[in-house]
Amino acid sequence: MTRDLTHFVGGKHVDGTSGRFGDVFDPSSGTVQARVPLASTAEVQAAIGVAADAQLEWAAQNAQRRSRVLLRFLDLIGKDMDSLARLLSSEHGKTIDDAKGDIQRGVEVIEFAAGAPHLLKGEYSSGAGGGIDVYSMRQPLGVVAGITPFNFPAMIPLWKAGPALAAGNAFLLKPSERDPSVPLRIAELFLEAGLPAGVFNVVNGDKEAVDAILHDDRVKAVGFVGSTPIAQYIYATAAANGKRAQCFGGAKNHMIVMPDADLDQVADALVGAGYGSAGERCMAISVAVPVGKETGDALAAKLTERVKHLKVGPALEDGNDYGPLVTADAKKRVEHYIQLGVDEGGTLLADGRGYSVDGYENGFYLGPTLFDDVTADMAIYREEIFGPVLIIARAEDYEQALAMATDHQYGNGVSIFTRDGDAARDFAARVEVGMVGVNVPIPVPIAYHTFGGWKKSGFGDLNQHGPDAFRFYTKTKTVTSRWPSTTLRSAQQTKEGASFVIPTMH
Ligand code: NAD
Repeated sequence: MTRDLTHFVGGKHVDGTSGRFGDVFDPSSGTVQARVPLASTAEVQAAIGVAADAQLEWAAQNAQRRSRVLLRFLDLIGKDMDSLARLLSSEHGKTIDDAKGDIQRGVEVIEFAAGAPHLLKGEYSSGAGGGIDVYSMRQPLGVVAGITPFNFPAMIPLWKAGPALAAGNAFLLKPSERDPSVPLRIAELFLEAGLPAGVFNVVNGDKEAVDAILHDDRVKAVGFVGSTPIAQYIYATAAANGKRAQCFGGAKNHMIVMPDADLDQVADALVGAGYGSAGERCMAISVAVPVGKETGDALAAKLTERVKHLKVGPALEDGNDYGPLVTADAKKRVEHYIQLGVDEGGTLLADGRGYSVDGYENGFYLGPTLFDDVTADMAIYREEIFGPVLIIARAEDYEQALAMATDHQYGNGVSIFTRDGDAARDFAARVEVGMVGVNVPIPVPIAYHTFGGWKKSGFGDLNQHGPDAFRFYTKTKTVTSRWPSTTLRSAQQTKEGASFVIPTMH
């Protein structure tokens, strides 16, 4: 018998009433382990009402008190790390160590968000004009929503919720329907940490739930992470409905390998960044761009050798480099791309299709796949595959490599491996990509810098975490005040009658 999961609204688990459910798989065995309720519009609207009611009191607490709740949450999630990581792995399919990294990355943004009293300090200009002081303050938006992807079920909800809650908003999370249990557990931990009931809510669902969020006037901002077509849809719909939106989409991250790079270091970095989490990371490196024939040949040989030794197996079993893909559909989609790559004329150096794990024959596994001789006109170069497929697309020189990363439709992350400081500096300055690594394969910024891609990888003008998060989740109010003083009376102050001229600081 499969379990039925719930929503989490108003501080408690709430059964779904729509009658619609989605399957939650154990990707390691390929079996259905639970059903997730898919919320109706009415259920989402009710949850938004609960959040709106809870928000005013939460916003009225001072920022330091709100931060203390986050600090207690940090303590609780730290104690829960092992069981939370197992829960995450069992639904997502990533290894336990990788699941811990997923949670830890989220924790780091909560640590950052706990600095809210400092981050929410406004600006003040004393004596901006005669007897005039100007100050600005940051106020919460009200109810805000997060719509998140399957591939980081702890990290991304925490990236969104931490700063939003610290700033005094109530939060409605619509997590991925493929791995909803970690978000539900996070809701329990927030409550246990002292977050008032109704301030953090989880509504499970699909397009119907998302549309209910997008069309409800009480929701003031939407933070989305997922694939590019959905990011574009959510950005356009949220904006048309007068909401603030930041929507992060897909990726095709290149690693430029210069002829002077240490190729063993590069090959290790590429294997980890390309195949870790079965390539289901928006910051995975999916394109290696060796510069020059000699670099390309040597790199292809080193990668081919390393790929043979990768260990793929069940998420909860120790010693695997990566686990299964999240669903059978995801696996089928990647297999389709592998065939497409062959048909398009790529050289298949390693074929991960048909990979089977003893005792787990129905799991959603794919072995590591490696293509060489991929060119910019091929679909496997242009499109996001989101699986354990690494492609080598060779460049003749540095300028061509730079142009490849710059001209690509996606601009999430990019990396250059070189010993040449000039090349690295030039690359970082000129490449049209949001996050750049120099001899770092996965350039995910630390919590107090911002995270966000360019071009078709991001829509909206403020990034995730770092100071941008507090700008996104607050609105600025600016107060211009004058207190007439008998000792400091300016000409403007003493002038009698109405003025019909725009005020200036002349
Ligand atoms: P997805 O777009 O399928 O789903 C993301 C969210 O949107 C889920 O909550 C889902 O329920 C909802 N959704 C799906 N279809 C919808 C529709 N038609 N209308 C409204 N809502 C809909 O993405 P995914 O498969 O869960 O995640 C993988 C994608 O996320 C990849 O493209 C990856 O690159 C991207 N991603 C990007 C970043 C980033 O920061 N740029 C980070 C992680 C993942």
